[in-house]
Amino acid sequence: MASAAATSSTATMFGSAAASDGCSRRVFVTTTVQVRASQSSPAFLRTSRAIKTYASCSNSSVVNEPQLGRWHMKLSIAALVTEASAKVIDGKATAKEIREEIAAEISKMKESSGVVPGLAVILVGERKDSATYVRNKKKACEAVGIKSYEVHLAEDCSEQEVLEHISAFNDDPAVNGILVQLPLPSHMNEQNILNAVCIEKDVDGFSPLNIGRLAMRDREPLFVPCTPKGCIELLHRYGVPIKGKRAVVIGRSNIVGMPAALLLQREDATVTVVHSRTKNPEAITREADIVITAVGQPNMVRGSWIKPGAVVIDVGINPVEDTSCSRGYRLVGDVCYEEASKIASAITPVPGGVGPMTIAMLLSNTLSAAKRAYNLE
Ligand code: NAP
Repeated sequence: MASAAATSSTATMFGSAAASDGCSRRVFVTTTVQVRASQSSPAFLRTSRAIKTYASCSNSSVVNEPQLGRWHMKLSIAALVTEASAKVIDGKATAKEIREEIAAEISKMKESSGVVPGLAVILVGERKDSATYVRNKKKACEAVGIKSYEVHLAEDCSEQEVLEHISAFNDDPAVNGILVQLPLPSHMNEQNILNAVCIEKDVDGFSPLNIGRLAMRDREPLFVPCTPKGCIELLHRYGVPIKGKRAVVIGRSNIVGMPAALLLQREDATVTVVHSRTKNPEAITREADIVITAVGQPNMVRGSWIKPGAVVIDVGINPVEDTSCSRGYRLVGDVCYEEASKIASAITPVPGGVGPMTIAMLLSNTLSAAKRAYNLE
Protein backbone atom coordinates (compact mmCIF):
# COMPACT_ATOMS: atom_id res chain seq x y z
CA MET A 1 0.00 0.00 0.00
CA ALA A 2 2.82 2.33 0.88
CA SER A 3 4.53 2.46 -2.50
CA ALA A 4 1.78 4.28 -4.40
CA ALA A 5 3.67 7.57 -4.70
CA ALA A 6 7.23 6.34 -5.12
CA THR A 7 7.89 8.37 -8.23
CA SER A 8 11.63 8.65 -7.95
CA SER A 9 14.35 6.38 -6.69
CA THR A 10 15.28 9.14 -4.29
CA ALA A 11 11.85 9.19 -2.60
CA THR A 12 10.81 7.03 0.33
CA MET A 13 7.48 6.89 2.15
CA PHE A 14 6.92 6.16 5.78
CA GLY A 15 4.39 6.54 8.55
CA SER A 16 1.32 5.31 6.62
CA ALA A 17 -2.03 4.98 8.33
CA ALA A 18 -5.24 3.87 6.62
CA ALA A 19 -8.61 5.35 7.49
CA SER A 20 -12.03 4.88 5.96
CA ASP A 21 -14.79 7.50 6.10
CA GLY A 22 -17.38 4.96 7.27
CA CYS A 23 -19.03 3.09 4.44
CA SER A 24 -18.00 5.08 1.42
CA ARG A 25 -16.20 4.69 -1.84
CA ARG A 26 -12.99 6.13 -0.47
CA VAL A 27 -10.28 4.98 1.87
CA PHE A 28 -7.52 7.39 2.68
CA VAL A 29 -3.90 6.68 3.46
CA THR A 30 -1.97 9.38 5.22
CA THR A 31 1.68 9.16 4.49
CA THR A 32 4.83 11.22 4.25
CA VAL A 33 7.16 11.28 1.28
CA GLN A 34 10.70 12.38 1.90
CA VAL A 35 13.24 13.02 -0.83
CA ARG A 36 16.90 12.50 -0.15
CA ALA A 37 18.37 14.95 -2.62
CA SER A 38 19.32 18.59 -2.78
CA GLN A 39 16.32 20.87 -3.37
CA SER A 40 17.71 22.20 -6.63
CA SER A 41 18.58 18.79 -8.06
CA PRO A 42 16.58 17.50 -11.06
CA ALA A 43 15.53 14.46 -9.01
CA PHE A 44 14.03 16.67 -6.30
CA LEU A 45 12.17 18.84 -8.84
CA ARG A 46 10.92 15.79 -10.77
CA THR A 47 9.64 14.17 -7.60
CA SER A 48 7.98 17.38 -6.44
CA ARG A 49 6.15 17.73 -9.80
CA ALA A 50 5.12 14.09 -9.81
CA ILE A 51 3.68 14.28 -6.31
CA LYS A 52 1.67 17.41 -7.15
CA THR A 53 0.37 15.85 -10.37
CA TYR A 54 -0.59 12.63 -8.57
CA ALA A 55 -2.38 14.55 -5.87
CA SER A 56 -4.35 16.67 -8.33
CA CYS A 57 -5.53 13.69 -10.41
CA SER A 58 -6.36 11.32 -7.59
CA ASN A 59 -8.48 13.47 -5.31
CA SER A 60 -5.64 13.45 -2.78
CA SER A 61 -4.36 16.36 -0.80
CA VAL A 62 -0.79 17.25 -0.10
CA VAL A 63 0.98 19.52 2.34
CA ASN A 64 4.37 20.61 1.08
CA GLU A 65 7.39 21.22 3.26
CA PRO A 66 10.04 21.78 0.57
CA GLN A 67 12.62 23.15 2.98
CA LEU A 68 12.63 19.72 4.65
CA GLY A 69 12.14 17.82 1.39
CA ARG A 70 8.88 16.43 2.79
CA TRP A 71 5.33 16.07 1.53
CA HIS A 72 2.56 14.97 3.83
CA MET A 73 -0.05 13.36 1.65
CA LYS A 74 -3.58 12.19 2.22
CA LEU A 75 -3.90 9.71 -0.60
CA SER A 76 -7.28 8.62 -1.86
CA ILE A 77 -6.85 5.02 -2.97
CA ALA A 78 -10.36 4.24 -4.08
CA ALA A 79 -9.11 2.06 -6.90
CA LEU A 80 -7.39 -0.32 -4.52
CA VAL A 81 -10.31 -0.90 -2.22
CA THR A 82 -13.42 -0.90 -4.39
CA GLU A 83 -12.82 -4.04 -6.39
CA ALA A 84 -16.25 -5.60 -6.54
CA SER A 85 -17.22 -9.02 -7.73
CA ALA A 86 -20.96 -8.43 -8.15
CA LYS A 87 -22.48 -7.73 -11.54
CA VAL A 88 -23.84 -4.19 -11.67
CA ILE A 89 -27.55 -4.09 -12.44
CA ASP A 90 -27.64 -0.99 -14.61
CA GLY A 91 -31.00 0.72 -14.11
CA LYS A 92 -30.07 3.68 -16.26
CA ALA A 93 -29.30 1.55 -19.31
CA THR A 94 -32.32 -0.70 -18.72
CA ALA A 95 -34.65 2.30 -18.35
CA LYS A 96 -33.32 3.74 -21.62
CA GLU A 97 -33.98 0.43 -23.36
CA ILE A 98 -37.54 0.38 -21.97
CA ARG A 99 -38.19 4.00 -23.01
CA GLU A 100 -37.06 3.15 -26.55
CA GLU A 101 -39.41 0.14 -26.65
CA ILE A 102 -42.29 2.33 -25.42
CA ALA A 103 -41.52 5.05 -27.98
CA ALA A 104 -41.51 2.48 -30.81
CA GLU A 105 -44.85 1.03 -29.64
CA ILE A 106 -46.47 4.46 -29.33
CA SER A 107 -45.26 5.44 -32.76
CA LYS A 108 -46.82 2.27 -34.28
CA MET A 109 -50.03 2.82 -32.32
CA LYS A 110 -50.32 6.38 -33.55
CA GLU A 111 -49.75 5.28 -37.13
CA SER A 112 -52.23 2.41 -37.08
CA SER A 113 -55.03 3.86 -34.94
CA GLY A 114 -54.26 7.55 -34.41
CA VAL A 115 -54.19 7.06 -30.63
CA VAL A 116 -51.80 9.24 -28.59
CA PRO A 117 -51.60 8.31 -24.88
CA GLY A 118 -52.07 11.20 -22.44
CA LEU A 119 -50.80 11.68 -18.88
CA ALA A 120 -52.12 14.44 -16.58
CA VAL A 121 -50.05 15.62 -13.63
CA ILE A 122 -51.43 17.73 -10.79
CA LEU A 123 -48.88 19.67 -8.79
CA VAL A 124 -49.91 21.60 -5.69
CA GLY A 125 -47.59 24.12 -4.06
CA GLU A 126 -44.07 25.33 -4.69
CA ARG A 127 -41.81 22.50 -3.46
CA LYS A 128 -38.72 22.57 -5.65
CA ASP A 129 -38.15 18.80 -5.54
CA SER A 130 -41.77 18.14 -6.59
CA ALA A 131 -41.49 20.69 -9.42
CA THR A 132 -38.31 18.94 -10.61
CA TYR A 133 -39.98 15.49 -10.54
CA VAL A 134 -42.94 16.86 -12.51
CA ARG A 135 -40.66 18.52 -15.05
CA ASN A 136 -38.70 15.26 -15.50
CA LYS A 137 -41.89 13.27 -15.96
CA LYS A 138 -43.14 15.74 -18.55
CA LYS A 139 -39.84 15.57 -20.46
CA ALA A 140 -39.85 11.77 -20.35
CA CYS A 141 -43.45 11.72 -21.68
CA GLU A 142 -42.61 14.02 -24.56
CA ALA A 143 -39.55 11.94 -25.48
CA VAL A 144 -41.65 8.78 -26.01
CA GLY A 145 -44.67 10.45 -27.61
CA ILE A 146 -47.04 10.65 -24.61
CA LYS A 147 -48.96 13.93 -24.45
CA SER A 148 -48.70 15.52 -21.04
CA TYR A 149 -51.22 17.75 -19.34
CA GLU A 150 -50.25 19.74 -16.29
CA VAL A 151 -52.17 21.63 -13.64
CA HIS A 152 -50.18 23.66 -11.15
CA LEU A 153 -52.21 24.88 -8.17
CA ALA A 154 -51.24 27.29 -5.39
CA GLU A 155 -50.13 25.91 -2.02
CA ASP A 156 -53.24 27.38 -0.34
CA CYS A 157 -55.79 26.09 -2.85
CA SER A 158 -58.66 24.03 -1.48
CA GLU A 159 -59.00 20.26 -1.54
CA GLN A 160 -62.20 20.82 -3.51
CA GLU A 161 -60.26 22.52 -6.30
CA VAL A 162 -57.91 19.55 -6.61
CA LEU A 163 -60.89 17.17 -6.63
CA GLU A 164 -62.52 19.19 -9.42
CA HIS A 165 -59.43 18.89 -11.60
CA ILE A 166 -59.25 15.16 -10.95
CA SER A 167 -62.89 14.81 -11.89
CA ALA A 168 -62.33 16.72 -15.15
CA PHE A 169 -59.36 14.49 -16.03
CA ASN A 170 -61.37 11.37 -15.10
CA ASP A 171 -63.95 12.44 -17.73
CA ASP A 172 -61.46 13.48 -20.42
CA PRO A 173 -60.90 10.67 -22.95
CA ALA A 174 -57.60 12.22 -24.10
CA VAL A 175 -56.19 11.61 -20.61
CA ASN A 176 -55.31 7.97 -19.92
CA GLY A 177 -53.35 8.41 -16.72
CA ILE A 178 -53.63 10.82 -13.77
CA LEU A 179 -50.86 11.45 -11.31
CA VAL A 180 -51.10 13.65 -8.22
CA GLN A 181 -47.60 14.67 -7.17
CA LEU A 182 -47.00 13.87 -3.49
CA PRO A 183 -46.60 15.16 -0.85
CA LEU A 184 -49.67 17.37 -0.78
CA PRO A 185 -49.94 20.42 1.53
CA SER A 186 -50.83 19.44 5.09
CA HIS A 187 -54.35 20.93 4.96
CA MET A 188 -55.38 18.32 2.38
CA ASN A 189 -56.53 14.78 2.93
CA GLU A 190 -54.25 12.69 0.75
CA GLN A 191 -56.52 9.65 0.90
CA ASN A 192 -59.59 11.57 -0.32
CA ILE A 193 -57.59 12.93 -3.21
CA LEU A 194 -55.93 9.68 -4.29
CA ASN A 195 -59.25 7.83 -3.98
CA ALA A 196 -60.81 10.30 -6.42
CA VAL A 197 -58.60 9.11 -9.31
CA CYS A 198 -60.60 6.50 -11.22
CA ILE A 199 -58.98 3.06 -11.13
CA GLU A 200 -58.64 2.92 -14.95
CA LYS A 201 -56.39 6.01 -14.83
CA ASP A 202 -54.51 5.26 -11.58
CA VAL A 203 -51.10 4.91 -13.29
CA ASP A 204 -49.30 5.33 -9.95
CA GLY A 205 -51.08 2.17 -8.78
CA PHE A 206 -51.71 3.64 -5.31
CA SER A 207 -55.48 3.15 -5.25
CA PRO A 208 -56.61 0.62 -2.61
CA LEU A 209 -58.48 -1.17 -5.40
CA ASN A 210 -55.25 -1.76 -7.32
CA ILE A 211 -53.29 -2.70 -4.18
CA GLY A 212 -56.13 -4.99 -3.05
CA ARG A 213 -56.09 -6.80 -6.38
CA LEU A 214 -52.29 -7.07 -6.19
CA ALA A 215 -52.63 -8.79 -2.81
CA MET A 216 -55.32 -11.27 -3.88
CA ARG A 217 -54.77 -14.52 -5.71
CA ASP A 218 -56.31 -14.76 -9.18
CA ARG A 219 -56.99 -11.02 -9.32
CA GLU A 220 -55.11 -8.68 -11.59
CA PRO A 221 -54.35 -5.09 -10.63
CA LEU A 222 -54.83 -2.62 -13.48
CA PHE A 223 -51.58 -0.93 -12.45
CA VAL A 224 -48.64 -1.80 -10.22
CA PRO A 225 -46.83 1.02 -8.34
CA CYS A 226 -43.93 2.21 -10.46
CA THR A 227 -40.92 1.80 -8.15
CA PRO A 228 -41.56 -1.82 -7.07
CA LYS A 229 -42.57 -2.67 -10.63
CA GLY A 230 -39.18 -1.28 -11.69
CA CYS A 231 -37.40 -3.53 -9.16
CA ILE A 232 -39.08 -6.68 -10.53
CA GLU A 233 -38.47 -5.57 -14.11
CA LEU A 234 -34.75 -5.31 -13.32
CA LEU A 235 -34.76 -8.85 -11.91
CA HIS A 236 -36.53 -10.13 -15.03
CA ARG A 237 -34.31 -8.32 -17.49
CA TYR A 238 -31.17 -9.56 -15.73
CA GLY A 239 -32.49 -13.12 -15.75
CA VAL A 240 -32.65 -13.46 -11.95
CA PRO A 241 -34.82 -16.47 -11.03
CA ILE A 242 -37.50 -15.59 -8.45
CA LYS A 243 -39.68 -18.71 -8.21
CA GLY A 244 -38.92 -20.73 -5.06
CA LYS A 245 -36.26 -18.28 -3.88
CA ARG A 246 -36.03 -16.73 -0.42
CA ALA A 247 -36.61 -12.97 -0.64
CA VAL A 248 -36.35 -10.30 2.03
CA VAL A 249 -37.88 -6.85 1.58
CA ILE A 250 -36.64 -4.27 4.07
CA GLY A 251 -39.30 -1.56 4.46
CA ARG A 252 -43.09 -1.87 4.28
CA SER A 253 -44.27 1.49 2.95
CA ASN A 254 -47.43 1.62 0.85
CA ILE A 255 -45.52 2.91 -2.16
CA VAL A 256 -42.44 0.64 -2.21
CA GLY A 257 -41.84 -2.05 0.42
CA MET A 258 -45.34 -3.51 0.74
CA PRO A 259 -46.12 -3.74 -3.01
CA ALA A 260 -42.57 -5.07 -3.67
CA ALA A 261 -43.23 -7.91 -1.19
CA LEU A 262 -46.61 -8.65 -2.83
CA LEU A 263 -45.03 -8.73 -6.28
CA LEU A 264 -42.28 -11.13 -5.19
CA GLN A 265 -44.91 -13.38 -3.62
CA ARG A 266 -46.95 -13.35 -6.84
CA GLU A 267 -43.78 -14.58 -8.55
CA ASP A 268 -43.60 -17.51 -6.10
CA ALA A 269 -40.75 -16.28 -3.92
CA THR A 270 -40.94 -16.99 -0.18
CA VAL A 271 -41.00 -13.48 1.21
CA THR A 272 -40.09 -12.02 4.60
CA VAL A 273 -40.70 -8.34 5.33
CA VAL A 274 -38.27 -6.60 7.68
CA HIS A 275 -39.30 -3.31 9.30
CA SER A 276 -38.22 -0.98 12.08
CA ARG A 277 -39.47 -3.32 14.83
CA THR A 278 -37.95 -6.50 13.40
CA LYS A 279 -35.60 -8.30 15.75
CA ASN A 280 -32.23 -9.31 14.30
CA PRO A 281 -32.81 -8.03 10.74
CA GLU A 282 -29.23 -8.92 9.85
CA ALA A 283 -29.73 -12.67 10.40
CA ILE A 284 -33.06 -12.64 8.51
CA THR A 285 -31.60 -10.72 5.58
CA ARG A 286 -28.64 -13.09 5.40
CA GLU A 287 -31.03 -15.93 4.49
CA ALA A 288 -32.25 -14.18 1.35
CA ASP A 289 -31.40 -14.99 -2.25
CA ILE A 290 -33.00 -11.68 -3.23
CA VAL A 291 -32.91 -8.54 -1.06
CA ILE A 292 -34.94 -5.41 -1.83
CA THR A 293 -34.29 -2.46 0.46
CA ALA A 294 -36.61 0.57 0.75
CA VAL A 295 -35.75 2.10 4.09
CA GLY A 296 -34.29 5.59 3.75
CA GLN A 297 -31.26 4.93 6.01
CA PRO A 298 -27.89 5.48 4.33
CA ASN A 299 -25.67 2.38 4.23
CA MET A 300 -27.76 0.52 6.83
CA VAL A 301 -27.37 -2.88 5.18
CA ARG A 302 -23.75 -3.94 5.54
CA GLY A 303 -21.85 -6.65 3.72
CA SER A 304 -22.32 -8.99 6.69
CA TRP A 305 -26.11 -8.89 6.08
CA ILE A 306 -25.77 -10.37 2.60
CA LYS A 307 -25.73 -14.06 1.78
CA PRO A 308 -22.87 -14.83 -0.66
CA GLY A 309 -24.29 -14.77 -4.20
CA ALA A 310 -27.51 -12.94 -3.30
CA VAL A 311 -29.03 -10.35 -5.63
CA VAL A 312 -29.48 -6.90 -4.07
CA ILE A 313 -31.90 -4.23 -5.28
CA ASP A 314 -31.38 -0.97 -3.42
CA VAL A 315 -34.30 1.46 -3.66
CA GLY A 316 -32.98 3.92 -1.06
CA ILE A 317 -31.94 7.39 -2.17
CA ASN A 318 -30.24 9.16 0.71
CA PRO A 319 -28.19 12.36 0.63
CA VAL A 320 -25.02 12.26 2.75
CA GLU A 321 -22.67 15.15 3.31
CA ASP A 322 -19.63 15.15 1.05
CA THR A 323 -17.58 18.29 0.81
CA SER A 324 -15.65 16.90 -2.16
CA CYS A 325 -18.84 17.16 -4.28
CA SER A 326 -19.69 20.58 -5.68
CA ARG A 327 -23.21 20.48 -4.18
CA GLY A 328 -21.86 19.41 -0.77
CA TYR A 329 -23.59 16.03 -0.69
CA ARG A 330 -23.83 12.79 -2.62
CA LEU A 331 -26.55 10.19 -2.88
CA VAL A 332 -26.14 6.74 -1.40
CA GLY A 333 -28.48 3.81 -1.02
CA ASP A 334 -29.71 1.86 1.99
CA VAL A 335 -27.01 -0.72 1.24
CA CYS A 336 -23.30 -0.20 1.84
CA TYR A 337 -22.39 -0.75 -1.80
CA GLU A 338 -18.67 -1.16 -1.21
CA GLU A 339 -19.17 -4.08 1.15
CA ALA A 340 -22.23 -5.70 -0.42
CA SER A 341 -20.82 -5.63 -3.95
CA LYS A 342 -18.01 -7.92 -2.82
CA ILE A 343 -20.45 -10.54 -1.54
CA ALA A 344 -23.57 -10.30 -3.72
CA SER A 345 -23.70 -11.79 -7.23
CA ALA A 346 -25.52 -8.73 -8.60
CA ILE A 347 -26.42 -5.33 -7.18
CA THR A 348 -28.00 -2.02 -8.21
CA PRO A 349 -25.91 1.12 -7.73
CA VAL A 350 -27.25 4.37 -6.28
CA PRO A 351 -27.67 6.51 -8.27
CA GLY A 352 -28.30 4.74 -11.56
CA GLY A 353 -30.15 1.70 -10.25
CA VAL A 354 -33.84 1.71 -9.36
CA GLY A 355 -34.28 5.50 -9.70
CA PRO A 356 -34.39 5.71 -13.51
CA MET A 357 -36.71 2.69 -13.63
CA THR A 358 -39.49 4.51 -11.76
CA ILE A 359 -40.22 6.99 -14.56
CA ALA A 360 -39.84 4.26 -17.20
CA MET A 361 -42.54 2.25 -15.38
CA LEU A 362 -44.82 5.31 -15.24
CA LEU A 363 -44.55 5.59 -19.02
CA SER A 364 -45.23 1.87 -19.32
CA ASN A 365 -48.33 2.15 -17.11
CA THR A 366 -49.61 5.12 -19.16
CA LEU A 367 -49.17 3.18 -22.40
CA SER A 368 -51.08 0.20 -20.89
CA ALA A 369 -53.86 2.56 -19.81
CA ALA A 370 -54.21 3.92 -23.36
CA LYS A 371 -54.20 0.43 -24.89
CA ARG A 372 -56.88 -0.67 -22.44
CA ALA A 373 -59.01 2.43 -23.06
CA TYR A 374 -58.96 1.88 -26.83
CA ASN A 375 -59.10 -1.94 -26.73
CA LEU A 376 -55.71 -2.20 -28.40
CA GLU A 377 -54.28 -4.99 -26.25
P1 NAP B 1 -40.89 5.25 4.20
O1 NAP B 1 -42.30 5.46 3.83
O2 NAP B 1 -40.24 6.17 5.17
O3 NAP B 1 -40.72 3.76 4.73
C1 NAP B 1 -39.52 3.31 5.28
C2 NAP B 1 -39.68 1.89 5.72
O4 NAP B 1 -38.43 1.47 6.25
C3 NAP B 1 -40.71 1.69 6.83
O5 NAP B 1 -41.49 0.55 6.56
C4 NAP B 1 -39.88 1.52 8.09
O6 NAP B 1 -40.43 0.61 9.03
C5 NAP B 1 -38.63 0.89 7.53
N1 NAP B 1 -37.48 1.18 8.39
C6 NAP B 1 -37.07 2.38 8.84
N2 NAP B 1 -35.97 2.24 9.62
C7 NAP B 1 -35.70 0.92 9.65
C8 NAP B 1 -34.69 0.14 10.27
N3 NAP B 1 -33.77 0.69 11.02
N4 NAP B 1 -34.71 -1.20 10.08
C9 NAP B 1 -35.66 -1.79 9.30
N5 NAP B 1 -36.63 -1.08 8.68
C10 NAP B 1 -36.66 0.24 8.85
O7 NAP B 1 -39.94 5.28 2.92
P2 NAP B 1 -40.25 4.93 1.36
O8 NAP B 1 -41.12 5.97 0.78
O9 NAP B 1 -40.62 3.51 1.23
O10 NAP B 1 -38.77 5.14 0.76
C11 NAP B 1 -37.68 4.38 1.20
C12 NAP B 1 -36.43 4.83 0.49
O11 NAP B 1 -36.61 4.64 -0.92
C13 NAP B 1 -36.09 6.32 0.64
O12 NAP B 1 -34.68 6.47 0.65
C14 NAP B 1 -36.66 6.96 -0.62
O13 NAP B 1 -35.98 8.14 -0.98
C15 NAP B 1 -36.41 5.87 -1.62
N6 NAP B 1 -37.33 5.88 -2.77
C16 NAP B 1 -36.78 5.75 -4.00
C17 NAP B 1 -37.60 5.71 -5.12
C18 NAP B 1 -36.97 5.53 -6.46
O14 NAP B 1 -37.55 5.88 -7.46
N7 NAP B 1 -35.78 4.92 -6.52
C19 NAP B 1 -38.98 5.83 -4.99
C20 NAP B 1 -39.52 5.92 -3.71
C21 NAP B 1 -38.69 5.95 -2.60
P3 NAP B 1 -41.81 0.90 9.83
O15 NAP B 1 -42.88 0.59 8.85
O16 NAP B 1 -41.74 -0.02 10.97
O17 NAP B 1 -41.78 2.36 10.21
